[in-house]
Amino acid sequence: MAMFGVADLGPIRGTFRPDILTAARGLEYGISMGYRLSDPVLDGIADRPTLIYKHHYKVANYMLDQAAAHVASYIHQQRKRALPIPASQVIDWKDNYGHLSHKAIAVQAGLGWIGRSALFLHPVHRGRLRLVTVLTDLPLVSGAPLAGKGPCDGCRACIDACPAGAISEAGYDRARCAEKLKEFSRMPGIGQSICGVCVKVCR
Ligand code: SF4
Ligand code: SF4
Repeated sequence: MAMFGVADLGPIRGTFRPDILTAARGLEYGISMGYRLSDPVLDGIADRPTLIYKHHYKVANYMLDQAAAHVASYIHQQRKRALPIPASQVIDWKDNYGHLSHKAIAVQAGLGWIGRSALFLHPVHRGRLRLVTVLTDLPLVSGAPLAGKGPCDGCRACIDACPAGAISEAGYDRARCAEKLKEFSRMPGIGQSICGVCVKVCR
C-alpha cells in the first residue's frame, strides 16, 4: 500500500452510517490505507472514463479489500476485534454514500486533506489514491489532522477539467457530479458510476 495511518475515531464516530454503528461499538481506531492508481491509466483519460480505467478502478478496490482482510486477520490473531469496511460499497444510491467516509478517516489520521474536488489529497500522491479502512480495538498510536488547507490554493486544474462544471472555487456540487456519473455509466462497457477526470488532473 502507498499510504498507511491510524485515526482516533472519537471525533468522527458521528459521521458513521447507522448500519455499522452496532458493529463498530468499542472499536476506537481506524486504520486507513491507500492504493496508488496507475499514472499511465489515469493519463489515458481525457474528459470521460475509459474501459481500462474502469478495470483498474475495480482491481484497485479489490486490492484494498484484500489488504483490509489481511490486516483484520492479523488483528484477530492478536485476539482483538477488526471490522474491515468495503473500499467501494454504496449503501445509499441516491447520494452515493458508503458505510463511512474513508476520506474522513484518512484526514483524522493526519494523512492529508479534502480538496475542493471532494477528493482525498495526499501530500505526495495528491488525488491519485483509492482508500480503505479497518476499524479495530487493537491499541494503536493515532495521528492528528494536518495543519493548513492542503494544496488547493492557487490550483484550478479540477475546476477547469470537470466535464460537469461541478467544481468551483466555492467547492464541490455533488448533484451535478452525480448526474454526470449517471451519464457516464450508460457509456458502452462502463456500467458503473465512475469518471476519473478530477482524479487524473490532481497530481
Ligand atoms: S486539482 Fe488542484 S484544486 Fe483540484 S483538488 Fe487537486 S489540488 Fe485542489
Ligand atoms: S468525478 Fe468527474 S464529474 Fe464528478 S467532480 Fe470529478 S471530474 Fe467532475
